[in-house]
Amino acid sequence: LDPDTFAGESRAVINFLAGYYRDVETYPVQSQALPGCLRALLPDAPPENGEPMDVILEEVRTHIVPALTHWQSPKFFGYFPMNASTAGFAGEMLSTGLNIVPFMRVASPAATELESTVVDWMGKLVGLPDRFLFSGGGGGVLHGSTCEAVVCTLAAARDRALSRLGHEGILRLVVYASDQSHCTFQKGASIVGIPRSNFRVIPTTAASGYGLTAASVRDAVEADVASGLVPLYLCATVGTTGLGAVDPVRDLGELARRHGIWLHVDAAYAGSALICPEFQHHIDGAELADSVSMNPHKWFLTNMDCCCLWVASPAALTSALSTNPEYLRNVTEESAGAGVVDYKDWQIALSRPFRAMKLWLVLRRYGGAGMRAYVRRHVEMAKWFEQALEADGRFEVVAPTRFSLVTFRLRPRLEGDDDAVDASNRGLLVAVNASGRAFMTHFVVDGKFVIRMAVGGAMTEMQHVQDTWELVREKAEEVGALQNE
Ligand code: PLP
Repeated sequence: LDPDTFAGESRAVINFLAGYYRDVETYPVQSQALPGCLRALLPDAPPENGEPMDVILEEVRTHIVPALTHWQSPKFFGYFPMNASTAGFAGEMLSTGLNIVPFMRVASPAATELESTVVDWMGKLVGLPDRFLFSGGGGGVLHGSTCEAVVCTLAAARDRALSRLGHEGILRLVVYASDQSHCTFQKGASIVGIPRSNFRVIPTTAASGYGLTAASVRDAVEADVASGLVPLYLCATVGTTGLGAVDPVRDLGELARRHGIWLHVDAAYAGSALICPEFQHHIDGAELADSVSMNPHKWFLTNMDCCCLWVASPAALTSALSTNPEYLRNVTEESAGAGVVDYKDWQIALSRPFRAMKLWLVLRRYGGAGMRAYVRRHVEMAKWFEQALEADGRFEVVAPTRFSLVTFRLRPRLEGDDDAVDASNRGLLVAVNASGRAFMTHFVVDGKFVIRMAVGGAMTEMQHVQDTWELVREKAEEVGALQNE
């Protein structure tokens, strides 16, 4: 690694990216590329000799960028936002440039301590009870994704239960989630060995805003206990993927406590909104949970990847995940001792990036007030879009817009017209995305096709949302016209 070449080529990449961000609005948001289009342009084998950076960047521009879906476009409203920012990028650059691997404190003390500090900072910002902070006896870790975090908490809950039940008890353990919970819980339960038949998907309804009710979970738990099964783990979501629904954390926490169930609060997306006091009531009761997670890489200006996981009992996590092979034994100091965090024991992999640098830069650069203003702007844009839908009789809002996700559909024009209206909504979504002028995704609830508009792009302004509303109306008219033909 030659420092001068490093400086020159990195500058070229940064200039390239600055140009990309400047032009990103000019690209169709969703890739219009046909399958195989890039493979057809690439040689079958890598080059034998290295090539200059400018040649490669030119190929990124001509071959790769046109076949991307542009997640950083201000009119990207699909899935959930994946924020990029100057500070997030700078943090990622520092982390990648320093390229340390902080799996144990001794492997890079500052990285471990920075991580423990930023997870405590984030915990305070989102209003978590002290018991999830290192200063309160709990603690946090940065993972790459909620999926990894969930597997780790499931393993911790499983081992805690099996230490009582013996290994054969695994066949009796039951995991509970709602029909709105993220699919990662089902996958995670099966990865940690919970029988597939012991995963309970509890139905939700429009009446509860598609949140769980404690009564429905209690019924399922009591039925399982009556048949000799052991309730293990319950997922409460604050801001579900499909509709942004919220489960009642306190009610579920009380139920979980009564039955010794591990309660995990998944706030992957809406966790970012919890930094605003007006949203913190959604995690009322979090002191009854065992673990909480949220993804700064979604809506917190932190470039991929970054998930905060907090646990009330670090020992429960580390006793499930700890390894101590000879080659990792610390020969230079006495054993790390109490209070020293070795993050290899808080995750699946051994190696890990220096994610704390990224989140620390975001927090330092924008501060709590800056981040709250950022989140509130998106919430306001989503409210505007929701009101526009409500004022137009042809649309209905499907679930209340609690954060920055709006869920909507064209209304049936006639009673019992469900199939036709689903086809119109599909047609509307396809037409919006094919226009290249915005990108949204969909969900199905109560058998109905629903369009999701997730506001939260780092470059999204109110004008983009207003333009998108015009686009939706224009395409809705086209879809309506097609139906009349
Ligand atoms: N939980 C919720 C509520 C989500 O919305 C998502 C992703 O959108 C996830 C979990 C999974 O997150 P990750 O991709 O970080 O594993």
